[in-house]
Amino acid sequence: MTIAPDTDTREQSSDSDEPIVPEDGNGKHYSLWTIGCQMNESESAQVGAALELAGYRPAATERDADIIVLNSCVVRASAEQKVVGKLGALQQLKRENPDLKIALTGCMVTGQEAQLTKQYPHVDLFFRPSAVERLVEIVPELAGVEDDLTELPHYYGAEEQQGKVTAFMPIIFGCNYVCSYCIIPYRRGKERSRPLQSIVGESWMMAKRGVREITLLGQTVNAYGHDLPGELDLADLLTAVDSVEGIERIRFLTSHPQKMTTKLIRAVADLPHVCEHINLPVQAGHDYTLQRMRRNYTTDDYRRVIHEIRETIPNVTIATDIIVGFAGETEEHFQGTMELLAELELDVVHVAMYSPRPKTISSRWDDDVPQEEKHRRHQAVETQQVAIAARKKGALLNGVHEILVDGQQKGRWRGRTRGNQLIFFDAPGTEQEWLGKLVDIRVTETHSWHAIGQIEGNTK
Ligand code: SAH
Repeated sequence: MTIAPDTDTREQSSDSDEPIVPEDGNGKHYSLWTIGCQMNESESAQVGAALELAGYRPAATERDADIIVLNSCVVRASAEQKVVGKLGALQQLKRENPDLKIALTGCMVTGQEAQLTKQYPHVDLFFRPSAVERLVEIVPELAGVEDDLTELPHYYGAEEQQGKVTAFMPIIFGCNYVCSYCIIPYRRGKERSRPLQSIVGESWMMAKRGVREITLLGQTVNAYGHDLPGELDLADLLTAVDSVEGIERIRFLTSHPQKMTTKLIRAVADLPHVCEHINLPVQAGHDYTLQRMRRNYTTDDYRRVIHEIRETIPNVTIATDIIVGFAGETEEHFQGTMELLAELELDVVHVAMYSPRPKTISSRWDDDVPQEEKHRRHQAVETQQVAIAARKKGALLNGVHEILVDGQQKGRWRGRTRGNQLIFFDAPGTEQEWLGKLVDIRVTETHSWHAIGQIEGNTK
């Protein structure tokens, strides 16, 4: 994902409408390059906010940049290879412009600094995820800034984010699970929850900038609060954010099935702004695989949670993640996954082929499912899911659904239902008139991944 747009102002603090620096900044420019999860996207937005605070403006292209920040992902080998490729490509740019500063953050960095420094001498700074304050080492302008950089909003003033109606916001960093395949806990450390007031304050600031939907983020988002004083949990946080004026919709991801409490499920059902959509990775549909994955639940536990969610939250939609071709996954184990997905008919399934990652428990085991077989299993899940998704989308037909308009695509307006289903509609008007509007749409046509409709009701 590339985020390298233009410029504008952002607010210095929650109670000021003044731009932080003059529109033309200090004449320096930045460029951000981000791959990976929503957490990376939000942390890049915070890096952008810090650089704008230092007077930098977005560069039109990387060639025009004084600083380039890469935000990396290593969750699968394919992501890591993209980062390696990007680092290689930047070598030339650095040769042509030795004053260019390059920084690398994200999951590639933690614990690897010494080796990375040797491997990539053209990179000026390596900083672990969330450690935005380290930027001062190559951005001297930040030295005079009094703001706590880690408290800057995960939102910046660049053109791409102007009129952005949805935003991501981390609420808990790190992960305390040790899933045998997963590198993230090694790179993002133990769980650290942000104080509730800081999250509510940032939500308020985002609302002031026109954000209408916030997605709260965590590797295990529903572990929120256990490390904070008091008996706080995600349900309490949702209740607090629900009352922030201007925030019409709240989502959260990713939840761990073991921590999907009745209290949290009830909060989703009861709180008016919390959307009826749950991201609940199951990863596999066979108990043997789940146990080897160290997921801490069985397929029956997962079924029970799904049933409770569906019984408690009317019209809920559910998304999940699946890994196919895990070490030791036989055809029979894989069929367990196919059957569970066929039985539960979840709305969205993200499928990944198993990729052994350094230092993880499963990397010591034989990666014994051949690549072609991983592809076949990947394809089988996708094919089955296309049919399920088409059926589920069909249920939208002729009904009226409220969407939040978040952009334009191929000449049509685009928005999502509270259940996160994508709907397009045609209407004259400018971005100013439509972006951020809640619109009632009557659905006239449905497909596996989206639906099309017409305006039915008033907009707010
Ligand atoms: N903390 C979340 C998300 C982790 S990363 C969770 O536990 O569900 C996002 C997804 O990447 C995971 O849900 C998993 O499906 C996939 N993933 C993680 N490690 C992987 C690996 N080694 N190989 C393939 N997919 C992986």
